[in-house]
Amino acid sequence: MSDTSSEEQLLEFLYACPVGLIECDATGEIGMMNPHAMQHLLPLAGPRDPGNLFAAFEQHAPELRSLAAAFAPATGRICDGHRIFVDLGARRHAAPAKVLACTLVKLGPNRLMATLADISQQVVQEERLRQANTWFATMLDGVNDYAALTITPDGRIESADACFTRQTGHPAADVIGRDLTDILNTDAPGGDLRLDEQLVIATREGWHLQEGWQQRADGERYWCQRLVVARSGPDDLRPSGFSVVLRDVPRGGEAAEDMRRLLTCDHLTGASNRRYFGQVMERELTHWRELRQSLSLVVMDLDHFKTVNDTYGHPVGDTLLCRVADACKLLLPPRGIFARLGGEEFGVLLPRYAKDQAVLLAEQMRTTIAALEVETPSGPLTVTASLGCATLDEADGSIDALIALADKRLYAAKHAGRNQVCHRQACAA
Ligand code: GH3
Ligand code: MG
Ligand code: MG
Repeated sequence: MSDTSSEEQLLEFLYACPVGLIECDATGEIGMMNPHAMQHLLPLAGPRDPGNLFAAFEQHAPELRSLAAAFAPATGRICDGHRIFVDLGARRHAAPAKVLACTLVKLGPNRLMATLADISQQVVQEERLRQANTWFATMLDGVNDYAALTITPDGRIESADACFTRQTGHPAADVIGRDLTDILNTDAPGGDLRLDEQLVIATREGWHLQEGWQQRADGERYWCQRLVVARSGPDDLRPSGFSVVLRDVPRGGEAAEDMRRLLTCDHLTGASNRRYFGQVMERELTHWRELRQSLSLVVMDLDHFKTVNDTYGHPVGDTLLCRVADACKLLLPPRGIFARLGGEEFGVLLPRYAKDQAVLLAEQMRTTIAALEVETPSGPLTVTASLGCATLDEADGSIDALIALADKRLYAAKHAGRNQVCHRQACAA
């Protein structure tokens, strides 16, 4: 077979292939793409460069660039069926207009191949199935009552059943017309979604389910599963309101609480542990993708801690670590997480905190730590800390890049003389 005919066959295949195929280099510069890929990519690129894969996806899937950059092996699959939710603005409040599945394969040091497939229909079916399953689960395995309410599009209570009163202690007549967010005190650590944020997702995707602490009228906290379902409106663009189901889910009493603490807390300082910190980060990444909520990270390392141990002994070092953790926990905002990441290194995760708020808190932590004094037989002992601060926006929505950036700034703070906060590329000396 001649070269020309095999080339023609290849072109024919590329043209007819029902999946988008794109070949590009490591920086995303596109060498070849078939018409199907063009059809997906061009409307997304907008004013950005349609000749670069990562630039075209900058708004909808900025993580693609970091996934590719972080992929170390010489060849292999960088991501497989990675879902990209595309809302082209036509139906802003309805379900996403389009969902693309992207598979990115590294073929060589400077050669990538991407496939793009439109899986919107499949996603709609999956959502419906999940929704039905959730409803069935709510009704069938419910040994407990579940409270049902209806609310207006802006979150005001229209109706509440008798179970709502039994569960929360609020008489239904007292709550009609009030904002449900005000009644459910849900500003819990770990960044669970507030009701108004759940409404945004339910408007877009039909429903949203989450679990978290909630408060009854008498102030008692209970673990609650909260399902919000959008009721479709006449114009199909905005829901006419929402149905809300609240379930009081018992968490197994003190023994279960002890177990949870054991799994999520550091044994010495009582701060969150590294594993739990990582889990919350992953969850917050989802919130960043869905709602573009800011997320800040502060990493902190105590200065010259080895000298503390060498001079005063390990037990005094332990006491100092506990005092630092206690002092920092007191400064945390309601949703913040303070974790011991290792030895004398700590992390502060700040959901919904913009960079300047995070820098302010990091400064407060630094001065508070520097003012701590631990009494020892050889006189009072003090310590200082160096801190690095970064936000998920700066890291293109990649958790790994966020940690690397905060770490880099922590080391810049060390190099610049310790006992300081660094929050930008070049740190003041
Ligand atoms: P730098 O300012 O560069 O961070 O100096 P450093 O001495 O703090 O840094 P390095 O990482 O070399 O030392 C950390 C020390 O922290 C080493 C170890 O003795 C101490 N450490 C780690 N975990 C614990 C712990 O659980 N308790 C106590 N008392 N010390 C610990
Ligand atoms: Mg260290
Ligand atoms: Mg240190």
